[in-house]
Amino acid sequence: MKRRILLTFILVVPAVFVATFVGRAQSPTDFEELELAFKGAQIVDLRTSKVSSVVTLREVVKIPPPSEPVLVKVFRRESLPPVLQPAFSKPGVTGVTIAGRYVAILHTEFRKEYEDILRHELVHAYVTLTSPKPLPFWFQEAGAVLFSMGKGRKFYGQPSKTQTGVTVGKIVDLDPTYKQKLQSFNYLIEKAGKKRFYEWYRNCVLTGEVNASALLEKSKPTAPVRPPVEELPAWLWVVAATVVIVVAVVGFYAARREIWYE
Ligand SMILES: [Zn+2]
Repeated sequence: MKRRILLTFILVVPAVFVATFVGRAQSPTDFEELELAFKGAQIVDLRTSKVSSVVTLREVVKIPPPSEPVLVKVFRRESLPPVLQPAFSKPGVTGVTIAGRYVAILHTEFRKEYEDILRHELVHAYVTLTSPKPLPFWFQEAGAVLFSMGKGRKFYGQPSKTQTGVTVGKIVDLDPTYKQKLQSFNYLIEKAGKKRFYEWYRNCVLTGEVNASALLEKSKPTAPVRPPVEELPAWLWVVAATVVIVVAVVGFYAARREIWYE
């Protein structure tokens, strides 16, 4: 039997992820520029979209979907229109939602990364368009992470287009601030149960009033209330990049090589 040794390199590039949220307040000029920048964008109808985070919000959490269309467009960093440049000026920002209507995603060669960013940003769009008033930053991000990646770290990989037996990928590591947001929601789910958590989340989005303590008090009336989350200053939406370089050299039978490409 012929035995082949394959060298598989997993190149892990700077691990960054953020998808941030920009509030409703924009100048009329900005809106004109945004409309121009989003010409030719994909139009997403949240009432019918099959993107998993939208389906969850609509059919599991049961928040009535807003009827306003959401414009989604992919931009290359080098050709970002000026109106979007400030939002992407911080390192690590890969997606932005503006006023719930405009979703800008930086081009990535990893399809699954694009899908996660889209899932994340459409949560922002959905709750922003639904809520009668701006929702707190931590609540926005906790929901966006919970209903998109759902975890603090993820690997995106695919076979190299130029070298056989080489997998190229990157590890995306959430900034600790975002991990904390996710943990705060996981804490609430653990304490209150998924069903009550979803009811609470829905109510927060529909009223614009976010009070995590109320959810905990109700589930444990005699226990002292431990605030699971706290407001954080806006600058914390900057994501720190973690650089991890892993080079794995693996030999194995050629017949099994496809397991690396699943
Ligand atoms: Zn976000």
